[in-house]
Amino acid sequence: MGEKMQAIMKTKPAYGAELVEVDVPKPGPGEVLIKVLATSICGTDLHIYEWNEWAQSRIKPPQIMGHEVAGEVVEVGPGVDTLEVGDYISAETHIVCGKCYACKHNRYHVCQNTKIFGVDTDGVFAHYAIVPARNAWKNPKNMPPEYATLQEPLGNAVDTVLAGPIAGRSTLITGAGPLGLLGIAVAKASGAYPVIVSEPSDFRRKLAKKVGADYVVNPFEEDPVEVVMSITDGAGVEVFLEFSGAPKALEQGLRAVTPGGRVSLLGLFPREVTIDFNNLIIFKALEIHGITGRHLWETWYTVSSLIQSGKLNLDPIITHKYRGFDKFEEAFELMRAGKTGKVVFFPHKG
Ligand code: NAD
Ligand code: ZN
Repeated sequence: MGEKMQAIMKTKPAYGAELVEVDVPKPGPGEVLIKVLATSICGTDLHIYEWNEWAQSRIKPPQIMGHEVAGEVVEVGPGVDTLEVGDYISAETHIVCGKCYACKHNRYHVCQNTKIFGVDTDGVFAHYAIVPARNAWKNPKNMPPEYATLQEPLGNAVDTVLAGPIAGRSTLITGAGPLGLLGIAVAKASGAYPVIVSEPSDFRRKLAKKVGADYVVNPFEEDPVEVVMSITDGAGVEVFLEFSGAPKALEQGLRAVTPGGRVSLLGLFPREVTIDFNNLIIFKALEIHGITGRHLWETWYTVSSLIQSGKLNLDPIITHKYRGFDKFEEAFELMRAGKTGKVVFFPHKG
């Protein structure tokens, strides 16, 4: 295109990022160029912004940040026959090898050679971005970009909530950060009842209620296990969904789930966790799932259909919308302070 664009770039191995002007990139073989219509901030972007230990070991500045996206294809690279100019797409962020043992078993979500779009490559916090064609997901034209960009994290939430039966089942969700909030929306749309949410932040407990949680509890003030037992007549919940990454929440959830119940774990713990396996897992005969990424591409179909059903209550989760990137630092700082649900940028001001 030979034009310039704005991008939020990790320019230095240090805290923060910069809004820079760079050339609009050219799609190479197997790639497309998209006009970014909406893009949202993920916890991973925050880690890159903060330059935590993980980011230091993984990210090689200078690099454009961001990976959650909705955009329109404006240029198609050589050899791409699956997409054309005008297609409206989002992107799966796991770039899988297709050759390893896991991939050969159609377990692409655990590909052993996974590269992450926007982490190991330039990302989408820009006016235009390159997307590998095989990672593109076509959206229906009438899906609002602010929902379409949420599909990638919604995929995490869908894989967690729908890893087992949920309709009509009592459910405990620990952690109402952006992913936990999406989990509440999916659980409610899928007929879970009652949905009990444990979350220490007042702001996020209020959001959880708005999204549809039937009960909320502050685990720093009340024991969530006692709350669950009183709501469920001492039975415990059928389903425990962990979205916080807090070791204490894991233990409380394992106590609160009914014997024979289901546990799906998405939150990542900051360190090794000690658990009474005999009493909290084995003698309770729990069904436990580790959740990572999204199933390719089954989960994308489910996510897209759930959005199109109109049953997902996403609006309260999108707490901040920005036109352009001028205030990106404010957005990151608010998110760092836990004062947001999902933050969405619409890069083009017009
Ligand atoms: P987040 O940090 O914004 O949200 C975590 C929430 O948990 C916060 O609101 C926090 O107040 C709450 N919390 C803290 N201590 C708690 C406790 N004791 N009990 C209940 N809640 C507590 O993170 P997020 O972006 O919403 O992501 C959720 C988790 O999912 C993170 O751990 C993240 O690393 C993980 N994650 C996993 C995958 C995967 O593929 N497995 C993908 C993305 C994110
Ligand atoms: Zn692979």
